[in-house]
Amino acid sequence: MTSTIPPDGSSTADEAAEAQPLAESGFATRAVRIGHHRTPEGEHGEPIFTTSSFVFESAAQAAARFSGDQAGNIYSRFTNPTVSAFEERLASLEGGERCVATASGMSAILAVCMGLLEAGDHIVASRSLFGSTTLLFNKYLSRFGIATSYVPLGDLEAWDAAIRPETRLLFCETPSNPLTEMVDIRGLAEVAHRRDCLLAVDNCFCTPALQRPLELGADLVIHSATKYLDGQGRCVGGAVVGDRKLVGEAVFGVLRTAGPTMSPFNAWVFLKGLETLQLRMLAHAQSAAALAQWLLAQPGIERVYYPGLPDHPQHHLVGSQQRTGGGIVAFDVRGGRAGAWHLIDSTSLLSITANLGDVKTTITHPATTTHGRLTPEERAAVGIGEGLVRVAVGLEEVEDIQRDLALGLETGRSLSSHP
Ligand SMILES: *Cc1c(COP(=O)(O)O)cnc(C)c1O
Repeated sequence: MTSTIPPDGSSTADEAAEAQPLAESGFATRAVRIGHHRTPEGEHGEPIFTTSSFVFESAAQAAARFSGDQAGNIYSRFTNPTVSAFEERLASLEGGERCVATASGMSAILAVCMGLLEAGDHIVASRSLFGSTTLLFNKYLSRFGIATSYVPLGDLEAWDAAIRPETRLLFCETPSNPLTEMVDIRGLAEVAHRRDCLLAVDNCFCTPALQRPLELGADLVIHSATKYLDGQGRCVGGAVVGDRKLVGEAVFGVLRTAGPTMSPFNAWVFLKGLETLQLRMLAHAQSAAALAQWLLAQPGIERVYYPGLPDHPQHHLVGSQQRTGGGIVAFDVRGGRAGAWHLIDSTSLLSITANLGDVKTTITHPATTTHGRLTPEERAAVGIGEGLVRVAVGLEEVEDIQRDLALGLETGRSLSSHP
């Protein structure tokens, strides 16, 4: 981070010891410091404002707040200081002007679509998306006259070819859930802007600690705060980050009116989660890389999907676009669904649960859970097979995670050789 150059352009050397504005501090500093505006009580920790509404000094002040002539809190469906603290901190970490916090990751996606699209508009989306996102587009947005076309995530020509005159939004996750496919965000942003579309990136798997899509040209970043931003599996929440107009006006307008608002308590949990985000993401990624390597050498594993492995199709983006391979490893187990379920049921340490981004390692069978509402054809098109298992690597000792998985892999081998 560089310090501000004075308006006259003179050297800053003499002022080197001056206090640096917090907004220009490094990532780790902003993650623990930004967003908290200390009250006259002098609290060190961030307070939780458990209040639904705010009191005005007079009827005239109430009128000025409602008309927008005076800034300030009105009602916690619109703004709340704890929620605002989380929004300010996440906006800073993603490098965006504004953030709007939402009740869940799905309501963040819904608020983007309601705020920026209208009947007759068209979305081009990656075919490798979180299951509920695909369902939201296909089953619900379609009812309001918004159609979606799907393309292979990494194929920029396919994105370009799928854009129609009425296309407004390109939507992707990178890496994708659960197969960790990636797309060159810079390249996709270039396609979007050349064709007069907006690019939204669901940054759930990497978080701003590993990847900042806005700096690479995306217009909107979407989060399921439920995952790594919380990091300890406690609350459901979401967020949208972008500029003043798209997020501060269009998306905020939907939130204020329709009300999928984040609660102050949940905002406080996420705010504190951001303080350890970078440390956790680096630790998750280190263990995930070790686990992926180990899985390659195990019996009964047909294929391992992890961006940090050299044979991953978009491995070149690790270290440039995203800082590490991230914390999610997926793999195909021999024996299809029976082999995958046997492996999952043989674990005793790992948690069989659909969440990810927790300090506790979680194990999931995507075909029958997170992606179970897709048709078999839709699953086949994106490569989610019956033998696919997703592990969201937690912060336990990686040797213990390996030992837990080894049990099911060894007994699974005899299972599949004697069907
Ligand atoms: C979980 C998830 C969502 C949805 O978030 P919720 O907080 O569960 O509503 C969206 N995108 C991705 C990639 C996810 O993993």
